[in-house]
Amino acid sequence: MSPLFKRAGVALALAAITIAAGSWGFLIHKTAHQLAVYELPSGSLRDFFYSNNAYLQYNAPRADVRRNEDSTEGPKHFIDLEAFGPDAAYTMPLHWNEAVAKYSKDTLLEYGYVPYHVQYMKDKLTEAFKQGNKDSILFYAADLGHYVEDAHVPLHTSMNYDGQLTNQKGLHSLWESMVPELEIGNYNLSSTHKATYLKDPAKAIWAAIRKANALLPDVFGKEKELSARFTPEQKYRTQVRKGKEYQSYTTEFAKAYAAALKNTINEQAISSANLVADFWYTSWVDAGKPDLSSLYGGSLTADKKQELEKALHSFHNNTLVKDSLLKAR
Ligand SMILES: [Zn+2]
Repeated sequence: MSPLFKRAGVALALAAITIAAGSWGFLIHKTAHQLAVYELPSGSLRDFFYSNNAYLQYNAPRADVRRNEDSTEGPKHFIDLEAFGPDAAYTMPLHWNEAVAKYSKDTLLEYGYVPYHVQYMKDKLTEAFKQGNKDSILFYAADLGHYVEDAHVPLHTSMNYDGQLTNQKGLHSLWESMVPELEIGNYNLSSTHKATYLKDPAKAIWAAIRKANALLPDVFGKEKELSARFTPEQKYRTQVRKGKEYQSYTTEFAKAYAAALKNTINEQAISSANLVADFWYTSWVDAGKPDLSSLYGGSLTADKKQELEKALHSFHNNTLVKDSLLKAR
């Protein structure tokens, strides 16, 4: 069975309980989109995105939902680096055309191509900014952000994407959903990052892939270490949903795993928000920095302005959760 087919199978099985299968859970996708807006420079770009924050957050996980209906969607979210030879994170071409020449399109469609799809979506967003089409800008911004975020999930860079090859099945949702959901109240959700122009977007997304991939030994290793200290009953729980049995990690195990990984997941979530802001900003600059104010009525209302100031303040002071301003919660 090809990994692609297996992934589709996993997605379908999980679709019964959640449509979040296969990437950062809804919580982190929505949160990273929200934080990225705060990192944009003041002016019509930020005001436009802030005016449409609700749309961006609602649609942050949309690309995953699409996987349930569209079989071509899956490989846009990951890259099985092992399939592309040793040290692929460093030896694969940075651009799609060269990658196709080296590996064939079929191979890329089978084993995933998230870093190339990010570049494709970046061009789509740039084009949408040029056209000044509100709906297109929002559509591509939401999806581009999603793929950039996926590139930060270590398990999206491996064939062993759910720990299924090492008797660690369920690792995917443990890392990207269960732990963040338990721990987000303790996360540092502030960042001093300001959206930065990416001179080389291909290099930037590949740097993210390399960093995520380098985290894998710990993602697998810490689970193994902890497993030795837990009985199977302490480690797993079985839930019945819609008449089907599902095994998942216990809260106790997830908390121990979170502690063992220290702040890795938090850092990856913030790094993804930072790079989403950079990609949005770069697309806008490459479109010629269009004035977007006509797309949101000329200027923000006094109320909206105040609301944004308050959110930025909470963001910079890491009090979004405390101030009940984290929208995904
Ligand atoms: Zn995804």
